[in-house]
Amino acid sequence: MSLTLFEKIINKEIPAEILYEDDISIVIKDISPQAPTHLLIIPKKVIPKLSDATDEDQDILGHLMLLAGQIANQLGLDETFRLVVNNGAKAGQSVFHLHLHLLSGRPLNWPPG
Ligand code: AMP
Repeated sequence: MSLTLFEKIINKEIPAEILYEDDISIVIKDISPQAPTHLLIIPKKVIPKLSDATDEDQDILGHLMLLAGQIANQLGLDETFRLVVNNGAKAGQSVFHLHLHLLSGRPLNWPPG
């Protein structure tokens, strides 16, 4: 089976701006930023989409959420940011390897589009 785009980034087969990495996750800058800060928080385990996650993935999902808050603090985002998970093509998901979008640095209107 072919690797996902994010597996190739994790394997360093294709370049990305990596901000953080540990055994469970990697954080990169989005190549097509939708806000002044637009990061992708990606688990190293391939979970195609959030709705595919199981109880086994609880620690990974917790790790991603905590990391999002820590990175936002480290970057001084003033506690003003948004996390987005697109689940499924109709919700805008284009890479089927779970990831959190962390967006900040511009007004974040509600409801989202
Ligand atoms: P989604 O549409 O929710 O699946 O998000 C996928 C994200 O990956 C999009 O915001 C893309 O801009 C981003 N993306 C695609 N290719 C790359 C890449 N090579 N490096 C960094 N981000 C990428």
